[in-house]
Amino acid sequence: MNKQQNILIIGAGLCGSLLALRLGQRGYNVTVMEMRPDLRKVDISAGRSINLAFSDRGIKAMKLVGLEEKVKSLCVPMNGRMLHDLEGNTVLAPYSGREHEYINSISRGQLNGLLLDEAEKHENVTIHFNKKCKSVDFENTTALFKDYDTNTEFVEDADAIIATDGAGSAMRQSYYLGKKFLFSFSQDYLSHGYKELSILPGENGSYKTYKNALHIWGREAFMLIALPNLDGSFTVTLFLSFDEGEYNFNNLTTKERVLEFFSKYFKDALELMPNLVDDFFENPSSPLGTVKCSPWHYKGNTLLMGDAAHAIVPFYGQGMNASFEDVTEFDKVLDEGHPEWETVFKVYEKSRKENTDAIADLAIDNFYEMKGHVNHANFREKRNLEMAFEKSFPDDYSSKYSLVTFNEDISYREAMLRGRAQDKAILNMLADGEYSTAIDLTDKEALKTILEKVKTATEAILEDDRIAGLYS
Ligand SMILES: Cc1cc2nc3c(=O)[nH]c(=O)nc-3n(C[C@H](O)[C@H](O)[C@H](O)COP(=O)(O)OP(=O)(O)OC[C@H]3O[C@@H](n4cnc5c(N)ncnc54)[C@H](O)[C@@H]3O)c2cc1C
Repeated sequence: MNKQQNILIIGAGLCGSLLALRLGQRGYNVTVMEMRPDLRKVDISAGRSINLAFSDRGIKAMKLVGLEEKVKSLCVPMNGRMLHDLEGNTVLAPYSGREHEYINSISRGQLNGLLLDEAEKHENVTIHFNKKCKSVDFENTTALFKDYDTNTEFVEDADAIIATDGAGSAMRQSYYLGKKFLFSFSQDYLSHGYKELSILPGENGSYKTYKNALHIWGREAFMLIALPNLDGSFTVTLFLSFDEGEYNFNNLTTKERVLEFFSKYFKDALELMPNLVDDFFENPSSPLGTVKCSPWHYKGNTLLMGDAAHAIVPFYGQGMNASFEDVTEFDKVLDEGHPEWETVFKVYEKSRKENTDAIADLAIDNFYEMKGHVNHANFREKRNLEMAFEKSFPDDYSSKYSLVTFNEDISYREAMLRGRAQDKAILNMLADGEYSTAIDLTDKEALKTILEKVKTATEAILEDDRIAGLYS
């Protein structure tokens, strides 16, 4: 592909800024147009997932652009889930039996800022802020922008346009409204939305609760989570139905009712949140949805990437990681040396879409797991067994969570199919009494026998899936 090509990227969020950096490193002329002001100069994050769970697929992308060490300094490691029950008792459930497997909490603003800084170091990359894309003209490979600085409109020309403008993508809307080709699109909202709250730092930037965990108050119908920040604070997110159940976003309208809800269900969290009422009424309650669409490209001159192509609900902590993996996978296709963008876009979508569909489905599964299943006995027994497998036989077993989160060289689809088969195998064994929970999990011999049974049962389930055409 000719490096003198002009690439227009719409949206300088996490995916767009990483893509600009990588294409800049590869020598393309890159212009980025971002709707919002420069987040390095103006604080624009309030109420919108201030921090994110960042894991191995994201780290792989950082390695690709040479930023692994710089990004590490922005991370707070989280070794497991800290589960809080109604009485305020806590138990730490590690993410893996292998000590080197943990996830990180990272600030969206700091990470995005770093990627913008690094992209701008390349002379061939230019980033413009306050420029909102209104539509894309595929026939002419141009995009129409509104310039908020001058209150005027202008048209930008390019050889290829890549839209990384998030879940509400303007270019995706042009695909849809243009009706120039068969464009399939679905957007599924959960009945639950989210609101961001906070636990402020203690004295001298200390943490008011355990630092190195993702805290979860799972209450079946709703849940609260908290992720640590570098400054000693935690960003807390309440996931709650908009209109169902005794307490919902639509009826939590007074200070008294909010305090009543938190005292009843999140007593120990409330003690850490004297600022709760202010946060609750200042921050928005936002919807959560899954966007799927196809094709992601049209006419060999435009492509959707990141949330613009595949927005997912946040319960696997993978939306950003998947968007970063998009860039890694796109880069691989560029390495194949196809002469036309059309082929690059086709090959990329063909290998990528089944994987982003898989993580979208896994993220919905995890919604139910986090708010309820983590408290159920059979779920905990399964996890305890998996931890013991991973600890005693680190090269022989990886749980579904580990396959998705810590195995960046296994595709999301493979992780989903294998992970679900393993879950089914273990849960069946528990239900059939084939494995006693009384077993000493440090007894390696006994554990090995159970592991072999799990592996055999998993292969049988995968074989059934293969016969059913779900797996090849
Ligand atoms: C509550 C919540 C929690 C989350 N937690 C996690 C997590 O823990 N881990 C994880 O991996 N993922 C998480 N995610 C998902 C993650 O935020 C997204 O997957 C990620 O931000 C996608 O990056 P993106 O660049 O594709 O889109 P975005 O980050 O949305 O960036 C899009 C950019 O385009 C700009 N833009 C939009 N429209 C236009 C336009 N018309 N013209 C020009 N610019 C435009 C926007 O201003 C923005 O800068 C979470 C999401 C939510 C909502």
